[in-house]
Amino acid sequence: MGTTETTPGPPTWRLLLDYVRPHRWTLLAGALLSLLTGVTGLLLPLVARELIEDLSHDRTITWALVAMSGLVIANAAIGGLGSYVLRRTAESVVLGARRSLSSYLLRLRITAVDRTEPGDLMARITSDTTLLREVTTDSLVGLGTGGLTLVATVVLMALVDPVLLGVTLAVILAAGTVLGVIVPRINRASRQAQDAVGVMGASLERILGALRTVKASGAEHREERTLHAAAEESWRQSVRAAKWSAAAGNTAGLAMQIAFITVLAAGGARVATGAIGVGTLVAFLLYVFYLMSPIQQVVGAITQYQTGAAALARIQEALRLPAEPAAPAAPLPAAGAEPAAVAFTDVRFRYADDLPYVHHGVSFEVPARGLTAFVGPSGAGKTTVFSLIERFYDPESGVVTLDGRDLAEWELPQLRSAIGYVEQDAPVLSGSLRENLLLGNPDAAEDAVTRVLKTTRLDGLVARLPAGLETLVGHRGTKLSGGERQRVAIARALLRRPRLLLLDEATSQLDAVNEAALRDTVADVARTTTVLVVAHRLSTVTTADRIVVMDAGRVRAVGTHRELVAGDPLYAELAATQFLATAE
Ligand code: ADP
Ligand code: MG
Repeated sequence: MGTTETTPGPPTWRLLLDYVRPHRWTLLAGALLSLLTGVTGLLLPLVARELIEDLSHDRTITWALVAMSGLVIANAAIGGLGSYVLRRTAESVVLGARRSLSSYLLRLRITAVDRTEPGDLMARITSDTTLLREVTTDSLVGLGTGGLTLVATVVLMALVDPVLLGVTLAVILAAGTVLGVIVPRINRASRQAQDAVGVMGASLERILGALRTVKASGAEHREERTLHAAAEESWRQSVRAAKWSAAAGNTAGLAMQIAFITVLAAGGARVATGAIGVGTLVAFLLYVFYLMSPIQQVVGAITQYQTGAAALARIQEALRLPAEPAAPAAPLPAAGAEPAAVAFTDVRFRYADDLPYVHHGVSFEVPARGLTAFVGPSGAGKTTVFSLIERFYDPESGVVTLDGRDLAEWELPQLRSAIGYVEQDAPVLSGSLRENLLLGNPDAAEDAVTRVLKTTRLDGLVARLPAGLETLVGHRGTKLSGGERQRVAIARALLRRPRLLLLDEATSQLDAVNEAALRDTVADVARTTTVLVVAHRLSTVTTADRIVVMDAGRVRAVGTHRELVAGDPLYAELAATQFLATAE
């Protein structure tokens, strides 16, 4: 998801309103409290006017002082409460956005993930959502309360002296014109700054994922330059945004000061001619002074929104990536029923429109039960067969069926709950060994776990580990060897009690003894389940019920080992070289 391929979506404020809508009442309450602070503050000049005009009448001023103190205290209390409510609401808006984005992330289609930098997506969920806080409080509420306060102040000013109000508005209008030029620049710079953060996230993800290789290749300096460049680009753009924000703020501030001086001059003249009293001039000047805050609030709201809009646009882009329908709240119970039949009929597939075809009309049939092996040179399209069965991708033409039903007609969760899949290079997630095993079937019974540990020959490992099944493994714990990882992945898949088991070079890293044992286990499973294996060892293949030989995206031949050795030259060659080399 680059910045270059962004097609304009619906306006960003719509997305903001979606996130804010559930909190509209608290937001309104917070806004009203803020507004009340503004209004109580606005009464001060009126009290002051009475005070000043009454000085000449020699009346007591105690009541005015008491009223002013009361107003000031009420003002502070309401203001504090208001800002707490607003901040809290804004945090809830951020929470809502993070929740919806996280859920969406888990539903992303694999095609979308293929074309996305994970680090950039992460930045959108963590860093861009943070900006929604300021957008909610400063922009949305700022615009509302600032705008209303502004109107109220202007009305009061009109009541005090319409002529001086005209003078004030003229100055403000001039400043507004200047701001119209500045504000779009803030948006542009902010977007580029956030994009740079995304680029940095993407680089970080790439480097940390392969830190050993980076170190072993002596590539630290080059990678360091990449990271620094992204950080510096973010800095450069943020500084640019800051420059324009500062210019906007100062333009507003300057306008107010010019308005103050102009009103002082014009008002002085009016006092001299006797059109208004000194008290009126003082009251009006106080209002000009008071105008400062709502105007700054409104200008701040607009400039802040430019930063927020950039983040909103990035969030919006993430939410427009293709996704699967939402999964049910709880994983479906493990299938554990009849074995499934699989068939490909003339399947054509490519990973993207601009990539070459990987399957050029693949057809084969696998009946329920039994062991089917897929062999062929690397790049032949074997792993892709499994990806299509899991419906990580859909064929461009042709049909894949499970139990005779087009996969497209299956509910995704139903389909996937029927399948146990051990990926090529199956990962171990960080967490305990138990969590890893139960990932696909959290309710598996303890004796089922024990049994599977035995059949995958993990029982010895578990006994050796200090905390047994509770030992932390993967990223932050005990590192497992390649062979151990594969056995954990197989155990995880078996615990799902799948109707269809897919093993993609799942025993490639096992030693001969473990491999032989796992072979027996797989043969055992194949008596009650449909098992598809991609294998590169002859030993796994010779006993298979059928072997599908693939080459360059086509099925060359299907048959038993004996049939193929006699009938298919490629198979005979593979069997004679690659496989036989590793066979016992
Ligand atoms: P095999 O498992 O037989 O070695 P694969 O099915 O993994 O072959 O890959 C077949 C072809 O598809 C290869 O040329 C590979 O480069 C390409 N390919 C695999 N996965 C992707 C992907 N996610 N995006 C683009 N091309 C891919
Ligand atoms: Mg493969």
